[in-house]
Amino acid sequence: MNWDEYAHWGKHIADWGADYHKSLRDRPVRAQTAQGEVAAKLPLSPPDGPEMMDAILADFESIVMPGITHWQHPRFFAYFPANAAPPSMLAEMLVTTIAAQCMLWQTSPAATEVEGVMVDWLRQALDLPAKYTGVIQDSASSATLSAVLTMRERATGYSGNRQGLSGKGHLRIYCSDQVHSSIDRACWVAGIGQDNLVKIATHGPRFGMDVAALKTAIADDRAAGHTPAGIIAITGGTGIGACDTLGPILQVAAAEDLYTHLDAAWAGSAMICPEFREDFWAGVEGYDSIVFNPHKWLGAQFDCSVQFLKDAAPQLNTLKIEPEYLKTTGAAVTNYSEWTIPLGRRFRALKIWFLIRSYGLDGLRSRIRNHVLWAAEVCEEIRALAGFEIVTEPILSLFSFRCPGSDEDQQRLVDALNNDGRIYLTQGTFGGRKIIRFSVGQFDTTREDVMMARHVIEEVWGQMG
Ligand SMILES: *Cc1c(COP(=O)(O)O)cnc(C)c1O
Repeated sequence: MNWDEYAHWGKHIADWGADYHKSLRDRPVRAQTAQGEVAAKLPLSPPDGPEMMDAILADFESIVMPGITHWQHPRFFAYFPANAAPPSMLAEMLVTTIAAQCMLWQTSPAATEVEGVMVDWLRQALDLPAKYTGVIQDSASSATLSAVLTMRERATGYSGNRQGLSGKGHLRIYCSDQVHSSIDRACWVAGIGQDNLVKIATHGPRFGMDVAALKTAIADDRAAGHTPAGIIAITGGTGIGACDTLGPILQVAAAEDLYTHLDAAWAGSAMICPEFREDFWAGVEGYDSIVFNPHKWLGAQFDCSVQFLKDAAPQLNTLKIEPEYLKTTGAAVTNYSEWTIPLGRRFRALKIWFLIRSYGLDGLRSRIRNHVLWAAEVCEEIRALAGFEIVTEPILSLFSFRCPGSDEDQQRLVDALNNDGRIYLTQGTFGGRKIIRFSVGQFDTTREDVMMARHVIEEVWGQMG
């Protein structure tokens, strides 16, 4: 393909993209595809000769598109959102076009320097103290793994990387029973082990970690000869939005000299609104590591996960490696690949720059405020449906409910709704029972979209009989 053809198809795809987004409300949210259907339409072997772009795009439309679940659909209420505001998509087009690999400062100085400034813009937007620096990672899972590895190295006097963990006893990490599975997996692959991830019971209206139980667990572990290494707190758990009380946990960590990581992957975006901070963010200043995903609620196209660090040194001591072929000469510069596990890195900061400039923080705040408001409104409407029960009250824009009947009936309703296609919801569990989660946060959703969900639920439930 030559560059004139590239320009031709690039314009074509930009037009296609605008039409796609404008027509989203007419499409079923979740793909209505049977397993194997897409693969069966693809040739079993690659072509030896070249094919024309119009044929490739025609197949994209007929084979791929029917098998896509539309995450940018305004009636996507499943999981958490993965928003892609149009300016952030344009930034991604530029990043894809430049195709720079931004592992070191010198491999694209602008990428490193824009990243540093964007991390600081977001630090200010989230009202974190000026001492925090940070790095943009691909996912909260990677940021959490970086933090868990740092806990491990710090607790072993930075000897784990060299000597391995054999003979070092049991390193222990503490979190609530509401954390995301990425925390379990970080402990698996960091060599901590699932059995050494101590899950503390939660209580209270926001399902926060029982701090007295946390203290007891740490004391018991020390008495048993184990080595406490860190605490992972959560603001906005995936299941029901659980939030730890951040200050008291930090006090325990300080008294016990433990490294702290806060997972605010979803709810962190809402902290750009000052009115939510007193309830959800009080005590945040002081956490060693904090992760939030602008690619969830804020509007930066996936992938974009910011890890703030109170002091970058412990993580750099854990992850930095400098073989000869990566050495650069001249003044000391920031090489962000030394802050993370992967070496190669995309220019992720550009979409944050485009996003924040296009809407201003106020534009982003008003969306999040509306989502919280509409979630509360539709929650009341679902509560009023005969026999329906709100299981967990809204935390920011997430709540959960049950229809009348058994756990199987909850799943039947979720499946029926998603086969209907007008809205998309997913299930979870809480207190041993199956629940239906309702999460508002798609960038273009309107009050009408959210309130329509109540009618769809009532109608589909009625048809189930
Ligand atoms: C989504 C989510 C994660 C995982 O995020 P990835 O970026 O997909 O790894 C972790 N924790 C919480 C609370 C989340 O909502």
